[in-house]
Amino acid sequence: MTEWSKINSYLHGKSDILILIHEKPDGDCLGSALALGLALESKGYNPEILMPNKMPEIYEFLPGQHLISIKPPYLLPHDVLIIAVDCADTKRFEYRLPKNSVGIINIDHHISNTSFGDYNLVDAEAAAAGEIIYKLLHESDIKITGDIATCLYTAISSDTGSFSYSNTTYQTLQIAAELLAKGADIDSIRYNIYEKKPLKDLLIIKKGLDNLYLSPEGQVAACTIGYGDLSKNDLLTADTDGLINILRSTEGVEVALLFKEVAPGQVKLSLRSKSFYNVNELAQEYEGGGHPRAAGCTIRGNLSDIVDEVLQKAEGALKGRGDNERSN
Ligand code: 5GP
Ligand code: MN
Repeated sequence: MTEWSKINSYLHGKSDILILIHEKPDGDCLGSALALGLALESKGYNPEILMPNKMPEIYEFLPGQHLISIKPPYLLPHDVLIIAVDCADTKRFEYRLPKNSVGIINIDHHISNTSFGDYNLVDAEAAAAGEIIYKLLHESDIKITGDIATCLYTAISSDTGSFSYSNTTYQTLQIAAELLAKGADIDSIRYNIYEKKPLKDLLIIKKGLDNLYLSPEGQVAACTIGYGDLSKNDLLTADTDGLINILRSTEGVEVALLFKEVAPGQVKLSLRSKSFYNVNELAQEYEGGGHPRAAGCTIRGNLSDIVDEVLQKAEGALKGRGDNERSN
């Protein structure tokens, strides 16, 4: 039995379908949800992608925007099929799941996924949720149109750092090639996602590097930005992938950490590692999660106490490790 036929059995007899994505949606969850929505629509279903806030501007070019419903968080109805995409646990989306629902399908690629669905299609080997959606559609009788291909290519390219991170596999590249063959609009993706980033994404790199910390052995690089600095400079919504990637890309650095105080006393921590340290395990100590090389969590408390504690853990864990563990 294919994964598609299992999911198809949940779709049977339904019309409305709610698709859930995670807070601060990225290219993978948006591209995957839009591709899935367009595919379901082409089969006569009525999918709705729920978001509490408007679409981030850089993703407005993606096909399928008519499927987005901006609705404040609420308790979802029990009689509608729900499909969560790219969400490791139920805290990742802002809507509440009903009890005794007709079906909750969980499609994800995070190793920390809690299997919260009635049906869980979780593949931690997949570089992006978009890879899983591609395989599902490939198994089905649904045509992967140029629009669907554009959404899926965006999803996979986002979560692999344009096919450069260690999650990129032979299969990732094969799927990307197939998506190009099916009409993914790579010129539009390149321009909209990589060539017109908001200025604030650049300014947060400047702000973060003002406050760069490097551990004595040079294996941990960290930046801390307080709430005052973020709000004063209108940087609360800036994308920080660029900043944390600069930290990780530095010679000798194994772990990159970004501490962002997103509200007074509430710190969003982003973690990345280069070749051997499992940042997902550290994020899970704070009820977060993600992947071995990219994870995140939110920690409440005093910013400098949090920074001290996390640095101590990361530096302690890395002591004496490294030289023979690096895979490259
Ligand atoms: P980022 O640092 O870009 O926010 O997130 C990196 C990775 O960690 C992504 O795969 C994201 O889904 C995951 N992640 C970030 N924050 C959280 C969190 O609070 N909880 C969980 N479970 N995963 C997170
Ligand atoms: Mn993802």
